Amino acid sequence: MDIAAIDSVKVLRENLLKWICFCFGILASIFTYFNLFINDFYPLGILEGVFAAYCFYTFHYARTRKIQAWQPLLLCLSITLLVTLGTYLAAMNSGLFVWTFSLPVLYYLLLGCKRGFYLSLLLACLQTCIFISKPSLAPFAALNLSLNMSFNYVGIWVIAHIFEASRAQFAQRLENLALFDPLTKTGNRLAMNHYFEVELVDKTNLFTMLLDLDYFKKVNDQFGHDVGDQVLIAVANILKKKINKGRVFRIGGEEFALFIPDSNQQQSYQIAEDIRMTLQDTKINVGDRKISLTVSIGLAPYHHDNTLKQTLKATDKQLYQAKKAGRNNVSVEKMHYRANLEQVS
Ligand code: GH3
Ligand code: MG
Ligand code: MG
Repeated sequence: MDIAAIDSVKVLRENLLKWICFCFGILASIFTYFNLFINDFYPLGILEGVFAAYCFYTFHYARTRKIQAWQPLLLCLSITLLVTLGTYLAAMNSGLFVWTFSLPVLYYLLLGCKRGFYLSLLLACLQTCIFISKPSLAPFAALNLSLNMSFNYVGIWVIAHIFEASRAQFAQRLENLALFDPLTKTGNRLAMNHYFEVELVDKTNLFTMLLDLDYFKKVNDQFGHDVGDQVLIAVANILKKKINKGRVFRIGGEEFALFIPDSNQQQSYQIAEDIRMTLQDTKINVGDRKISLTVSIGLAPYHHDNTLKQTLKATDKQLYQAKKAGRNNVSVEKMHYRANLEQVS
């Protein structure tokens, strides 16, 4: 799985917006021609012409540039305006109001559950007010027709809502499966790549840490693999608590990578030392056992234009130094900070 797949919903929505704009652009152009030159219904014709132009502009924009977050919302709002104004201006027997029923699907597809819900509610309220204010309710005089229309709209709305809510839930579950280490619930390597390449926009004052538990094999040998797993979970929880601004990733068996943005050498070193001392002083309870362990930490600043691989390599060099200097250490660049070596007890 590559990091682009993580943003697949965004890409899907962008693609959808592009082709919806293309289709609506053509449809609105046909209606513009019809209303301006055959029906002589100028207000609606002009409105549809403007809408068609906007659709083609957005289609072109989506082909050449990255869609902005407000563009799907603007499209939904403009088509809502067109349908409600059209319903208000045109006679009921023109059938323009029929478009109302397709809009909840469009809202949910382009904007997701929350905005889809509010826009569907807004449209229902607007159209109800417009229907009531109409002087001639000819086709709606029969109660049956009004009821059928209302149930139809609510039915489409509910189905769109359930579909989008389930889709979002499944997408979230798949994303969690792809990005999280199932044991420690920290991010995995793919999550780390995505964080570094996409989420972490400003890397100017970024510091990276690599942590490797000291003599962890002994924990497994002494207490068993299951206990080792519980220790890893406890360590990951401690790390997550210590990092409030950055992120923690498990990148190997008992190796973690930590990213600390907006920091400096002093601050990041203090975080590393705090982690080292906390682990040294913590007795991890697994059943009736109390397990002590220590950690070696490599710390390095991010160098401008370095790739993730280069950044990790530089940090790994420091981790190696920390191990070489006797473990239970933080190594930053050329400095070594030694502490008492504590072995697994
Ligand atoms: P040091 O790093 O200080 O050199 O010694 P170490 O004993 O920690 O050595 P190393 O890093 O090479 O060994 C890592 C051990 O971690 C090997 C393996 O038994 C254990 N390990 C890796 N993944 C898991 C896991 O998911 N669960 C458990 N329980 N143990 C794991
Ligand atoms: Mg290791
Ligand atoms: Mg180790």
